[in-house]
Amino acid sequence: MSTTTTTTTTTTTTLPEATPPPSHPNLIHIHRSPLPFASGAYSLVSLPAGSLLTKITTATASKKAYTSVQTGRDTHIELNSDLVYCNHSCDPTINFDMEKMEVRVVDDRDLKAGDPLTFFYPSTEWEMDQPFECTCGSGEKCKGWIDGAKNLGNEVLGEYWLNRHIEEMVGERDGGVEGRL
Ligand SMILES: [Zn+2]
Repeated sequence: MSTTTTTTTTTTTTLPEATPPPSHPNLIHIHRSPLPFASGAYSLVSLPAGSLLTKITTATASKKAYTSVQTGRDTHIELNSDLVYCNHSCDPTINFDMEKMEVRVVDDRDLKAGDPLTFFYPSTEWEMDQPFECTCGSGEKCKGWIDGAKNLGNEVLGEYWLNRHIEEMVGERDGGVEGRL
């Protein structure tokens, strides 16, 4: 999942020497799995709730894809770093703030070394490129089918920190009512 081009994902069985160098070697451990969608990012550091994990510095504009992150109403980026391995969870450990280009620890829970680095995909994505049935394992907190913020109610979205473009699009969906969420 490095820079651009269309020749990605042709390697199935990953050879160690075929993997790119880690982009955040002091912050993020990547667990690589040959199984589809089973790779993931884990924190190497402990940080208090709300604090900055890292700035997003290698993003490039892109079309919507399963690896992209939405940054505005019609804009998407590729992360071009190990941050792409941050999976979805309905009980996430981090937020992707695409306005400030920051990855921060969630506001209500400290991050501990060894924790999976996960964010709530509908906090950035309005309509996801590849919806999926969630297996995050967060029990009653799990929302099941994840396809973006578009089809989630305000009571669900209200549980999460959301990017401004998502809040705006939710507001328009709901008829421009001020002050919701
Ligand atoms: Zn879930």
